[in-house]
Amino acid sequence: MFFERIAVIGVGLIGGSFSLALKEKKLCRHVVGAGRSAANLKVALERGVIDSVESDIAAAARSADLILIATPVAQFEKIFLSIVQDLKPSAIVTDAGSTKRDVVAAAREALGAKIAQFVPAHPIAGAEHSGAAAAKADLFRGRRVVVAPLAENSERDIEAVSALWAAAGARVSRMTPQEHDEVFAAVSHLPHLLAYALVDDFSKRPNSAQLFGYAAGGFRDFTRIASSHPEMWRDICMANRDQLLRELRLYEEKLQAMGRMLEAGDAAALEKLFSEARAAREKWLKGDYQ
Ligand code: NAD
Repeated sequence: MFFERIAVIGVGLIGGSFSLALKEKKLCRHVVGAGRSAANLKVALERGVIDSVESDIAAAARSADLILIATPVAQFEKIFLSIVQDLKPSAIVTDAGSTKRDVVAAAREALGAKIAQFVPAHPIAGAEHSGAAAAKADLFRGRRVVVAPLAENSERDIEAVSALWAAAGARVSRMTPQEHDEVFAAVSHLPHLLAYALVDDFSKRPNSAQLFGYAAGGFRDFTRIASSHPEMWRDICMANRDQLLRELRLYEEKLQAMGRMLEAGDAAALEKLFSEARAAREKWLKGDYQ
């Protein structure tokens, strides 16, 4: 598997790391990058993340054999519309978006009869850092990637996208877009919402300086992901808001149950819950679910 020309639309942490990983494995001859920030593309070029810059997305996609879209998800529809006319019939379009139902709907709307060329995917790797400066070749090593194929995709194209992520060091599995959005609302989108909520709440209290002054390791661990990119997380939360609201309601119920334990002074119930949660987390950390 070798691609002559890859176009990365959105050369940030994820798009840039994908490019670096494929270059390291010598799986492509040339990577062209397109984006909305000239300063970021300059960094990408200087760091060797991409080989050339194309200011026009349609032009970048025109001669590409593989196109990766790695911008915030609300940008996808516009990008699909920009590339649809000039797409090579043999080209594969794929993405790294953190949500899948909205991305698939946007692709269907914009790509029309060319929908079979789009193979949706989501690398479960990342960081709270963004931009080409943060890109690194080993970002996906040992991480999971979900490929969420469409009924229209050819097995050959699904395999090609899966093989690229596998070459980047990832473990690839398949899910439907619906299943994907349900699972990631719980394990990713809800924790981000909670981290942002806690930091925002503390920052707006009259004694916020005192609170942040004494906040230590526990607060740092719990809120690390509140340093994530606000636009990206706005888009994710909006795109998956039905599933996220469902998870939020379940979490509220859990908090209410814990509140009742505190009100009742039920130390035993609280300890039981803490013990069971700790055991579940240790099992997860041991890798029992991999
Ligand atoms: P990033 O901010 O590092 O990079 C996004 C890039 O897209 C930026 O360089 C930005 O200039 C560019 N961009 C924005 N709008 C554009 C447009 N209209 N046209 C062209 N370029 C545009 O973000 P990232 O962390 O690399 O995330 C990219 C995608 O990957 C998102 O869809 C995100 O949901 C997904 N993702 C992120 C993570 C993570 O933890 N960071 C993990 C998995 C998937």
